[in-house]
Amino acid sequence: MTFSRRHMILTSAATFLAGCGAGGGTAPVVARPDPALEAGLRPQPNASYDAWVAAFKTRAQARGISASTLNRAFRGQGFLPGVIERDRNQTEFKRSLEDYLNIVAPEEKVVFGRRSFAAQSRALAQVEARYGVPADILGSIWGMESYFGTKRGKIPVISATSTLAWEGRRGRFFESNLMDALRIVQTGDARPDQLLGSWAGAMGHTQLIPNAYQEHAVDFDGDGKRDIWSNNPIDAFATTARFLSKAGWRRGQIWGLEVTTPSGFDGPTGRKAKKSVAQWQALGVRAANGGRIPDHSSAALLAPMGLGRPSFLVFHNFNMILRYNPSENYGIGVGYLAGRLIGGGPLRAGFGPDKYGLVLSERKALQNGLTQRGFDAGKADGVFGKKTEAAIRGFQRANGLAETGEPSRQLLGMLG
Ligand code: CA
Repeated sequence: MTFSRRHMILTSAATFLAGCGAGGGTAPVVARPDPALEAGLRPQPNASYDAWVAAFKTRAQARGISASTLNRAFRGQGFLPGVIERDRNQTEFKRSLEDYLNIVAPEEKVVFGRRSFAAQSRALAQVEARYGVPADILGSIWGMESYFGTKRGKIPVISATSTLAWEGRRGRFFESNLMDALRIVQTGDARPDQLLGSWAGAMGHTQLIPNAYQEHAVDFDGDGKRDIWSNNPIDAFATTARFLSKAGWRRGQIWGLEVTTPSGFDGPTGRKAKKSVAQWQALGVRAANGGRIPDHSSAALLAPMGLGRPSFLVFHNFNMILRYNPSENYGIGVGYLAGRLIGGGPLRAGFGPDKYGLVLSERKALQNGLTQRGFDAGKADGVFGKKTEAAIRGFQRANGLAETGEPSRQLLGMLG
């Protein structure tokens, strides 16, 4: 219930953390800061935090956490200023669907994901058989949350949640997650050094916060541990499937599909305007691939970037994905990537020009032009972030242009 919204808000940024594969090998017994982490993500002295931890330990013992668990769990942990920095820098900035899909499901990720998905097909089929949530949806969530298990996060969860609990902006929420993280240690589901995750404490293959773990985690393979941390993702798949099943996922139904609308279409769009499939068809809505639209009862029409651009008819199960993460872009991203994992092609409709009048190939050309002239625009993915903005500003400054940091056709003309 609280899982969905909080989970999303806390983990949306985590997806973009540059975590690298959590390796196998021998894990240290004591949580040791990863030397690859930036300084702000390694414990720093902070007397106020230490005093908070001492008081917290008393509260935790009153709640049944043993002194030995507390000692084990807090050894090597500490105040992480980098976590607070990330918490404060969460942008509410909403990406366009085009940018969003280029970030969460670019072609190279589809290629990588198909291999990962194939390697887990047996596990996913078993989980699907039990919970009724399709393998492709589970595989897609896995891809969205941890890049198919390769970016599970490297920040010690005890340190991260205790730092945010001490800081206090959402103190009760993070204290509750810290308490649940300690319960994970106490029950032996994981050792403290295994509890690594995002800056906000989201862990494992499908990025669960400790509260969500305690409420939903499943020991699917029956090895006695609800293990979402190891290289084997099966418990994480089952946990996510169980969550979606309990939320109300309808077995045998799809999330939605890409559709087209006729010119002059005057029907409503948006998740609240529901109609039967027959009503949508009467308004001229058609499957973009020319096939049949399945009838899963009422449906809504989503056109996030306007009619004539990628549009989707979404059914009940789309809303179940939003229980996992309430962003419509996330829901479309999950559905889209799921289709790609099982061999589907890119979206049929084009996105057309963006608000600067540029299409994707032009945005990429602009980024390449900037980088070639010594203004590093980052990866030429057509998605404009801080790095591209800084490169544009640099180029504008060097050429005596007004420093806007925004792309334009004029700029493309100078760089192309
Ligand atoms: Ca297990």
